[in-house]
Amino acid sequence: MNSGKLIVISGFSGAGKGTVIKRLLSEYPNYVLSISATTRKPRAGEEHGREYFFKTVDEFKSMIDNNELVEYAQYVGNYYGTPKEYVDKQLSEGKNVILEIEIQGALNIKKQFKDAVLVFITPPSATELKNRLVNRGTEDLDTIMARLRRAEEEAAGVENYDYIIINDTIDKCVFDINSVIIAESNKSNNKLDIIEDIKENLKDI
Ligand code: 5GP
Repeated sequence: MNSGKLIVISGFSGAGKGTVIKRLLSEYPNYVLSISATTRKPRAGEEHGREYFFKTVDEFKSMIDNNELVEYAQYVGNYYGTPKEYVDKQLSEGKNVILEIEIQGALNIKKQFKDAVLVFITPPSATELKNRLVNRGTEDLDTIMARLRRAEEEAAGVENYDYIIINDTIDKCVFDINSVIIAESNKSNNKLDIIEDIKENLKDI
């Protein structure tokens, strides 16, 4: 069986990553989402094993020491990392594994997995980004302004991503991401086995 694709999804906060990922998971059975480990405290409504595996710093460090993480990074004072076992198992079963991680982690993944697909999701404009954060209604104006300032930092390094996908409408964005993954999966270097098989079997015909 062909191994699945490792897909990194990053983007500005407020770009709609969460919604897009949920839709990919519900519409296409061959996508799964990796759940990260973190030392950040759970936010209201978050559950251990659903949003994250919440760890103490000591627990996290022992995961690093035992080589249990594919990658990890520090972000705003906390550790975040991708557990290895789940990723390896799902890829070997042919699933496309989505990692929703920040840029240091994304670049680290690309170094280890040459075939990983790095996707950056962006709203169509700065005004739209601001409107989405305002309409979400979960943050006050100061927090929204701070997030918009951070968006500039979040854009640093975006040229290292393989694809930049505009989230104008959710349907189109989900369709575009899936199309990219289909195209990537059909690259000739992923399909050479099939040609080898056919060549081999032709000898017996
Ligand atoms: P939050 O605390 O808002 O849930 O996440 C903060 C940042 O950490 C986000 O940019 C998120 O994509 C990133 N992140 C979450 N999990 C991981 C991970 O396993 N590895 C890395 N490198 N970043 C992660």
